Amino acid sequence: VKSYDAKKLKSSLRESSAEIVLFGAGDVGKLAHLALSRCDVRVSCFCDGRADKLGTAYCGIPVRHPDVLHSTSRDAIVFVCNNYLTSVVSQLEQLGFVNIHHCGPLLAESDFSEGDAGMSLNEIKRKIVWHQEECRKVENSSTDALVLKYVDVVVTEACSMKCIDCANLMQYYSAPKHVNLELLMSTLERLMGCVDRLCEARVLGGEPFMYKSLHHVVEWLTFHESIEKVILYTNATIVPQGKTLSSLKHPKVIVDITNYGSLSRKMESMVDILRSQGIAFLTKIPSWTDSGRIRYRERSEEDLIATFNNCCVNDVLTLLHGRLYRCPFSANGTNLQAIPYDPADVVDLTDPQKDGADLRREVMDLYSVDKAPLTACSYCNGRDYSTPRVEAGRQTKLPLPVLPYSQ
Ligand code: SF4
Ligand code: SF4
Repeated sequence: VKSYDAKKLKSSLRESSAEIVLFGAGDVGKLAHLALSRCDVRVSCFCDGRADKLGTAYCGIPVRHPDVLHSTSRDAIVFVCNNYLTSVVSQLEQLGFVNIHHCGPLLAESDFSEGDAGMSLNEIKRKIVWHQEECRKVENSSTDALVLKYVDVVVTEACSMKCIDCANLMQYYSAPKHVNLELLMSTLERLMGCVDRLCEARVLGGEPFMYKSLHHVVEWLTFHESIEKVILYTNATIVPQGKTLSSLKHPKVIVDITNYGSLSRKMESMVDILRSQGIAFLTKIPSWTDSGRIRYRERSEEDLIATFNNCCVNDVLTLLHGRLYRCPFSANGTNLQAIPYDPADVVDLTDPQKDGADLRREVMDLYSVDKAPLTACSYCNGRDYSTPRVEAGRQTKLPLPVLPYSQ
């Protein structure tokens, strides 16, 4: 899969009689379909293994199971429209497909400002950047640059809600702590000292607006020239005010609000204040997979690799209490001492023995496309298209018990 000239590709597709398949019936697929149909390129079908998508039509096009590819002509042109690029491309290559494209240049060349994609422009831009960065990461996996798509910067273990299926495992914290500000700033400094570019610093908890020193963190992140966007994830239960609110008035900031209906009790006032202050935000209705339980699962090596490779958060680096982890589940599960500490899955940014070069090498290894499955993956249900859905936002009164991992 190589980069391509979108204009040339679209004109050759118009003249081609080959079938065009979009692999991934999600937001990237929707944008790719829009970009192609605007220039009269006819798509045959979407391909997607999610049970809720099968047998349906998406953007007016049938959604078929990936098994259909076995009987599809190998001349077909397949666009990978999700961010599981490595595993989907290898699956397609094994089947003998040769015309495989990602959507990076196609989306970059298209104008989505008309509002016909059913998403806000902020949302569209983020989806495109995520996909492009995934493509770039796969294409340039052998270069020396250290460019990270996202880092979750956890500021607190506390949340104003206690969702029983929280994929970040907040339901297990019985005595949640805030992150020490000094430690957070010094480890952010060390991390960004060895990273060339970070597309999104995502500030979250728990609920980040419970963290009194939040403005210091946001100001530091927005000031850092190698950080492109700063996203705050909130459940709309606490309206930011004072210095926190002021820190959000920055062109790099987007507030990402999950709308839990009546549980997001400050939704209206939060939207009003952000709008009145000119702060960019987006709202979304949550759709969850069953990924919020820590339990050892006996998996073969092959299953473990598939669980890791197909996971939608398998490269969401997470900074928690001075350590950098490969994903939020690994971070919180290790922090809760519910899964074993595995030094191969963690970069300890507090270690005074390590200099900048050591840390850079370790972060590169942690983020590598060739990273082996995490120890945490054996304790996790996984987060891919086949993971069953659960109702989002169900609350628990009491924290769930944490079992020591030997049990
Ligand atoms: S999913 Fe629920 S418990 Fe977890 S951080 Fe969000 S609001 Fe808090
Ligand atoms: S532990 Fe593995 S499967 Fe679970 S969220 Fe992390 S990367 Fe994904």
